[in-house]
Amino acid sequence: MLYNNYGKTGKKVSAVGFGGMRFDLDKSIDENAELLRYANSKGINYFDTAPNYCDDKSEEIFGKAFKNMPGQFYVSTKSMPTKVDTAQKAREAVEKSIERLGVDKINFYHVWCLREMDHYYQAMRPGGQYEGLLRCKEEGLIDHIVFSSHQPGKEIKQIVDEGKMEGVLLGVNILNFPYRWDGVVSAQEKGLGVVAMNPLGGGVIPANEEKLSFLASEGETPTEAALRFVIASPQITVALNGFSTKEQIDTACKIADRAEPFTEEQLENIKSHLGSNMNAACTGCGYCWDCPQEIPVPAYMLFYNEKQMFNSSEEDMVKRVDVQHKWGMLVGRKASSHECIKCGKCEEACTQRLSITERLNEVAAWEKAVREKSE
Ligand code: SF4
Ligand code: SF4
Repeated sequence: MLYNNYGKTGKKVSAVGFGGMRFDLDKSIDENAELLRYANSKGINYFDTAPNYCDDKSEEIFGKAFKNMPGQFYVSTKSMPTKVDTAQKAREAVEKSIERLGVDKINFYHVWCLREMDHYYQAMRPGGQYEGLLRCKEEGLIDHIVFSSHQPGKEIKQIVDEGKMEGVLLGVNILNFPYRWDGVVSAQEKGLGVVAMNPLGGGVIPANEEKLSFLASEGETPTEAALRFVIASPQITVALNGFSTKEQIDTACKIADRAEPFTEEQLENIKSHLGSNMNAACTGCGYCWDCPQEIPVPAYMLFYNEKQMFNSSEEDMVKRVDVQHKWGMLVGRKASSHECIKCGKCEEACTQRLSITERLNEVAAWEKAVREKSE
């Protein structure tokens, strides 16, 4: 396992981190906790969770595992400034996480899910979340205050430059790195830890291995190449993976043993293959799930990614949406794209600030073409 310094914190963390957002909830708490212990036995020491992950079970699963972890570990969790909007609420959130996780303190505590500068300012206002977290830090309930962001590079740089945070968690991967790298580099240069989430582009990479073969070097799959990209990048401290099986852990750990970064030439080659708009890609985070019309928005938006990634024609997309209806993400949907009433709820929740309603409009035209063909 490769270990990196987390910024200036003095903590050495594993290049592979365990993100607790994809546990298999058909399994028991004990079985999922066993997966965490297995990861720790393989050298993983960075464990990231949050309230609400996995139907709010994630912190509980971690708490169970932490009771008898085989090795040393660090824990990270979070709360949102939009919900935890006073110093008192910040303290209560920290105390609740400490209790559920069964630890003495949280090593990395995230001001969670910043999507615009206003969220940051809300956290920093007098009497707000940051003030509460600082107090927790002084009392030893938190080691380090860090933030998680879905903002563009220049806004991340702005927050980094304010000098209040010791690390950042952000969505960067082999498909969107040309658009996210500013934020990564500005954080790393200022001595912050940089944690990458969503290394497989919301499942887009494993689902499109054949078309993405240009990502891989000899003897590896595109999925392995995508993991290697984040694990081995010298600018990235930890690559978070939402593991749900031991095999996935073994694969990531094997890559971290070799830790071979991409060369400049390989990165240029990848950039030349990528569609021009992969920054505006859906990551599959699922925050937009709650649609009053019961439209499966994340499934539609993950599907829409393919248009951008492969610069696909309208004709191609009509064929692909038909396949998705029959075999893929859109099987059994309760409602279809044309039933959107443009209430804006999903766009407000979207971590990537995507124009969801416009995209649904385009998909509705492809779906209409499919219906007309079958009539
Ligand atoms: S804008 Fe459309 S897709 Fe989004 S939540 Fe409202 S009805 Fe659902
Ligand atoms: S919130 Fe945005 S990025 Fe997340 S699944 Fe929905 S559309 Fe995709």
